[in-house]
Amino acid sequence: MTAFEYRAPRALDEALDILEEYGDEGRVIAGGTALVTMMRQRLVRPGCLVSLRDVEGLGQIEARDGAVRLGALVTHREAETSPLLRERWPVLAATFGRVGTIRIRHMATVGGALAHADPNQDPPVTLIALGARVEIRSADGEREMLLAEFFRDYYESVLEPGELITAVTVPPPPERSGTSFIKFLPRTADDYATVAVAVTITLEPDGERCREARIALGSVATTPLRGVAAETLLAGTRLDEHLAKAAGEVAKSEVDPLDDHRGSAAYKREMTAVMVSRALTEAWATARRAVRAAG
Ligand SMILES: Cc1cc2nc3c(=O)[nH]c(=O)nc-3n(C[C@H](O)[C@H](O)[C@H](O)COP(=O)(O)OP(=O)(O)OC[C@H]3O[C@@H](n4cnc5c(N)ncnc54)[C@H](O)[C@@H]3O)c2cc1C
Repeated sequence: MTAFEYRAPRALDEALDILEEYGDEGRVIAGGTALVTMMRQRLVRPGCLVSLRDVEGLGQIEARDGAVRLGALVTHREAETSPLLRERWPVLAATFGRVGTIRIRHMATVGGALAHADPNQDPPVTLIALGARVEIRSADGEREMLLAEFFRDYYESVLEPGELITAVTVPPPPERSGTSFIKFLPRTADDYATVAVAVTITLEPDGERCREARIALGSVATTPLRGVAAETLLAGTRLDEHLAKAAGEVAKSEVDPLDDHRGSAAYKREMTAVMVSRALTEAWATARRAVRAAG
């Protein structure tokens, strides 16, 4: 590692001022699970590290008008074990629980999971399927966007120098909806996904047909992405085995995976079709249960 300055502000404005002062040279550190490795490997050489650890107001999980707002410093373990998430967004709590090992989950943060923009990460997939929005601040102001629009390329997001993520907000689950998450990893349980899929299905008021499907895919392109063509196929239909398979086949044509030690690109494409089909079937069943429970 090369020498760098280290700053540990206690207030968000102070952190933003330091980031503005250092421009390209400034780098935020949250859990450090990714950044420290990247610095050791000299992939990044920040002139100044700005620790978020002591910054007040970034570590809360709050209910807001039916939505939940996760502060950027909330750890994966806190999200996994949050009673609020477990009750209202159980699939999101479960997704955080699938990340790496418990040691990693105690360190890695919600903001770090997004800003790192590694397409193999799990939380972005479920957050996209749930329609989450990300809050971004800089010394000049703030902006907010759908998480689905946040990722640009391999390890690259829309974040500009001087900007940091302050929170991610998940809207209330729509009525008559169900969400599923499948992390397919044939090697060990603490690995990154070979293919990850999250699906939200919202049913029409009759409870028989699909009003909207949101399909999010991870580990199969340079960014997490939505299977828009597969989603279109489902609108207005009643899901059955045949349709779930057909949608999986369409999703397969929307991905562009890399060959790596978790599988060849061809294998990941095939597994995308299988996992999308399974995730749709699970989300459909959950949505139907929600309809029955509502009477
Ligand atoms: C061995 C191992 C296994 C893992 N397995 C998985 C897995 O299976 N699934 C999975 O999803 N993840 C997994 N992870 C975690 C994941 O890869 C990242 O390491 C983690 O999400 C980064 O979070 P962090 O808080 O530690 O970020 P840091 O390491 O602190 O930072 C990462 C990047 O994000 C930036 N950053 C951090 N916070 C902010 C912010 N609030 N605003 C702007 N920029 C910010 C930093 O500047 C840096 O560029 C694993 C990690 C390890 C080390």
